[in-house]
Amino acid sequence: MPTLLIVEDDALLLDALTGQLKQLEYDVCTACSVDQAKALLQTQAVDGIILDLGLPGADGMELLTWVRSQIAGLPVLILTARDGIEDRVSGLNAGADDYITKPFNMQELQARLQAMLRRARQPAFTQPSSASGGPSTTIGPLLLDHASQTATLDGTALELTQREWQLLELLVNRCSEVVTRDDVLAAWHACPPEPGQSSPPLASNALEVYVHRLRKKLDSTPLTIRNIRGLGYMLEKP
Ligand code: CA
Repeated sequence: MPTLLIVEDDALLLDALTGQLKQLEYDVCTACSVDQAKALLQTQAVDGIILDLGLPGADGMELLTWVRSQIAGLPVLILTARDGIEDRVSGLNAGADDYITKPFNMQELQARLQAMLRRARQPAFTQPSSASGGPSTTIGPLLLDHASQTATLDGTALELTQREWQLLELLVNRCSEVVTRDDVLAAWHACPPEPGQSSPPLASNALEVYVHRLRKKLDSTPLTIRNIRGLGYMLEKP
């Protein structure tokens, strides 16, 4: 089973989490500060990190930055009480693979952890290069060129606004997994507003509008964007 490093300074939570994950047959090692975690990572190979941000001494974000510079592909899930959209955005921008806020649901943490480790093992649809030489992703007739932020359907360019691109990229990167409303808003928040809009569209129906537009653009393909009631959206391939 995969080995996880939990970095958490709350002893009770650390104990509980360690116990639960061991029951799920993960190998678990623990650290309660950034320094401890760094020391441990230099001697032990782990498959993923669950990272608290509010730690004594150095902040968890420092460890994230360090991990990204040292062990590029190591998946990191942030588990924190910081629930602001800016916190999520800066965590994800700094290279975290997922972000869960406390209090959390153990089943959700487990599901996201599994998904994160699965993604790390299998860059399923990623091809080494595309016409532009950058990383690209193909699902059926759809090809996404991440560097140029362009998409083609059977070789024909798909016209997308910046926000439609962000939404599509999220859905494609996490194909067959639920993309939550918050995930999309965080991605939108991180990109510049579209012409005529000074801020991200936070209106309750804004996301639905964009999903509707994307559905129309993918109409001719076997790909469907499913509405997962109360959770978000999922791109399904046949
Ligand atoms: Ca803490």
